[in-house]
Amino acid sequence: MSKTRETVVIIGSGPAAWTAAVYASRANLDPVVYEGEISREMVPGGQLMFTTDIENFPGFPEALGGTDLMERMKAQAVRFGTRVVSENIEAVDFSGHPFVLTTSGGARITASAVIVATGARANWLGLSSEERLARTGGGVSSCAVCDGALPAFRNQRLVVVGGGDSAMEEALYLTKFASEVVIVHRRDSFRASKVMADRVLQDPKIRVEWNAAVTDVLGDDFITGVRLQDTLSGESRDLECGGLFVAIGHTPNTAFLGGQLALHENGYIQTPEAWRTTTSVPGVFAAGDVMDSYYRQAVTAAGTGCMAALEAERWLAHHAVPAAGAIA
Ligand code: NAP
Repeated sequence: MSKTRETVVIIGSGPAAWTAAVYASRANLDPVVYEGEISREMVPGGQLMFTTDIENFPGFPEALGGTDLMERMKAQAVRFGTRVVSENIEAVDFSGHPFVLTTSGGARITASAVIVATGARANWLGLSSEERLARTGGGVSSCAVCDGALPAFRNQRLVVVGGGDSAMEEALYLTKFASEVVIVHRRDSFRASKVMADRVLQDPKIRVEWNAAVTDVLGDDFITGVRLQDTLSGESRDLECGGLFVAIGHTPNTAFLGGQLALHENGYIQTPEAWRTTTSVPGVFAAGDVMDSYYRQAVTAAGTGCMAALEAERWLAHHAVPAAGAIA
């Protein structure tokens, strides 16, 4: 399916990548998407593959599954001629043009323009019970905005793990649905900004379990509680709950770039121009969660995917780009 000389290579397989592919293929750019391989940490389709019901993607009033949404987006891109390769891009060379990309299958391909849409992955606690219940829609989530409004979480005690701004935001958001929100934090003070922390501490629906770590998630098909360990005394006890939201940060998938694009301090790709997807390398564009640590929504990722494809199209039209470059 892939050629050794490509015009536009899109790396990733979430909403940003598929939207970029729809636009690029409809613009006759003959894009190829490197959607990635299945591994223990990653699956093609990205974070939405772990989301059971998506209720906030416009156009789907009845909600739909994350896997469903990704399949539909991929099918839409393929319908317009997008080629899909189920391999990772393992290394890039942006030092010359055309760009050179190395695939996990060992191939080296050139690209006149590249759209990086590799997303970010939520950090998890690393418990097997957490992984199982997150994967099967068993009440464990890393995104309150995505999942918090689901019926299963209404009028339940919901646990949020973490002490940063994300945990504060998730906890405050969940107060709309929960009977009680319990923040479990491993230390005795929050890392979050004072304004967010104060808001949490003043909210009558939220209480904090300080110096506590979640060491197990209880429940077979759906969460029934969490096991907490006191980080000072080492003592364990169980806390009943109807949902667990893990908010201990995200890691953008940028390692394969080998430092060739400018990144923010937190590891996300810099897109220095306002409302643009241009990066520090002309001809390389970034879209979706890999460049967005703030919104992190499927719909915003799709929006930036559209922007990246339009910018790639215009960039290719305005630069004397050879249709096919030879690998040096
Ligand atoms: P963060 O600031 O890195 O906080 C992560 C939190 O998770 C920390 O409290 C950390 O504990 C805890 N943690 C990390 N690993 C853990 C583990 N294995 N077990 C238990 N706890 C663990 O991440 P974030 O909250 O996602 O925020 C990321 C960035 O986005 C920050 O710069 C933040 O200000 C920004 N942000 C801003 C807003 C806003 O302004 N509205 C909203 C969300 C995020 P320790 O404190 O002990 O290290």
